[in-house]
Amino acid sequence: MNSQEQTSREQTSHESLFKRITNKRDELIELTCDLVKIPTINPPGEYYTDCAQFLGDRLARRNFQVEYYRAQGTPGDSDQYPRMNVVARHENPKPGTCVHFNSHIDVVAVGLGWQHDPFAAEVVGNRIYGRGTCDMKGGLAASVIAMESLLEEYSDLPGSIEISGTADEETGGYGGVAYLAEKGIMAVPRIDHVIIPEPLNKDRVCLGHRGVWWAEIETYGHMAHGSMPFLGDCAVRHMGAVMDQFEKILFPSLKTKRTNMPVVPDGARESTININSIHGGLDEGFDGLPSPLVPDTCRMVLDRRFLIEEDIDDVKNEIRQILEELATNRPSFKYQLRDLFEVIPTMTPQNAPVVREVSAAIQEILGKPAEMVVSPGTYDQKHIARIGKLNNCIAYGPGILDLAHQPDEYVDINDMLDSAKVMALSAYNLLQGN
Ligand SMILES: [Zn+2]
Repeated sequence: MNSQEQTSREQTSHESLFKRITNKRDELIELTCDLVKIPTINPPGEYYTDCAQFLGDRLARRNFQVEYYRAQGTPGDSDQYPRMNVVARHENPKPGTCVHFNSHIDVVAVGLGWQHDPFAAEVVGNRIYGRGTCDMKGGLAASVIAMESLLEEYSDLPGSIEISGTADEETGGYGGVAYLAEKGIMAVPRIDHVIIPEPLNKDRVCLGHRGVWWAEIETYGHMAHGSMPFLGDCAVRHMGAVMDQFEKILFPSLKTKRTNMPVVPDGARESTININSIHGGLDEGFDGLPSPLVPDTCRMVLDRRFLIEEDIDDVKNEIRQILEELATNRPSFKYQLRDLFEVIPTMTPQNAPVVREVSAAIQEILGKPAEMVVSPGTYDQKHIARIGKLNNCIAYGPGILDLAHQPDEYVDINDMLDSAKVMALSAYNLLQGN
C-alpha cells in the first residue's frame, strides 16, 4: 500500500485484494483437489505425514517458517500411523498480534452411497466432490489462498500469520490441537486470534459448541443353555428394561431442556442423546451358527449432548437415577456405568475481536449481517479454550454443515472464494488492530 492511501477501515478499499483472490480461482480448485486426493482417513489416521508435508512445503515456499510436531504417545499414534501436525508461521515486518488459522487434515471413513469417487476430487460445475471437501479441506484451501493473497497484497503488515494442519479432530483432537495447546504452540500468549475454517456456511460465525458426555452402561446376567433360558438371566433383557425407561423418562425429559445458545440446526437447541451402540452376548466372530447361550453381559455406549445451562453432574445423575431405580425395582438387575469422555460446552463472547472482525467482513463481502451460531457437535475449539486458555476463537468457513460426513460430500467453489475474502479481510483488520 502506498503512503498516500489511508489505512482507516472506512477509507481503505480492499478491491485489489478481493480481485486477487477471485483471480486465484483455478489455484484454489487445484489446491483443494490436491488435498482431497490425499486420503487422510481417521481412524486409523492414514497419510497424515503426506498431507502435513504437502501443506508445509507449499507454505515454506511462501516464506513461512514450518514446524512439524508428531504427537507421540497420544491415542492411535504409532510408527505406522504417526499423529503428524504442521504449523507454519509468517513473521510480518512489524510487531503485532498473531492470527492463526487452524484446520484438521483428517477425514472420516467413506461409507456407502457414493455416486462420485470419494478421493478423485471431481469438479462438476461449481462443486468439488469428495470426502473432506466440505469437512474441511475446502476451508483449509480457502484460508491458504486468503493468507497468500493478503501477503502478496500488503508487504508491510504487522504481527504474524499462522496456518496449521492438525491431526485427529474427528476422534477428539488429542493427537492434534490438544497436543499443540499443551505444548504452548496453540495457546496464549503465542496466539491471539484463532479462526477454524470448519464448514459452518459462509455467512455464519460459529461461537462454540454444546457439551458432550460419552458413557458406557453394562448390564449383567447369568449364562445358561439357550433351550432353558429360565435357568439363566438374560443381560440383553435387562438392557431392554433400560431402553424402556429411557423411552418413558429420559427422552421426554431431554425434550424439555432448551438452550439460549444459538445452536443450529434448531433440533440441537434441545438436549439430545444418541444410543451409539448396543451389544449383548458372545460375539463369536465367524460366519457359522451361534451357540445356544443366554447372554450374561450387554453393553450400551451413549452419546449425550448437553447445553451450557446444564451442569455435567446433573447430566450424569439423570442417567444414574434411572439405573438406580431399576436396581431397586427390577429383580436381579445389576449394572455398571462408566465415563468414557466428556467436554464442557464453550462459547466465545460476541464482543471478542475475532467475532467482531469476521462479522464485519461477512457484512462487507456478502452484504448481509453474519448469523451467530453454535455448533451441535464439538470441534477443536474446546482445546484452544480449555488448554490454550484463549477465548477468542471461532469456526468460520465455507461448506454446508449438513453435508459433513455424508456420501457425495462437496464444497461450492464460489463459497470458498467468498469465505477466502472474508478470511483475508478479517485477518487484515485483526492484524491492524482496527
Ligand atoms: Zn471438521
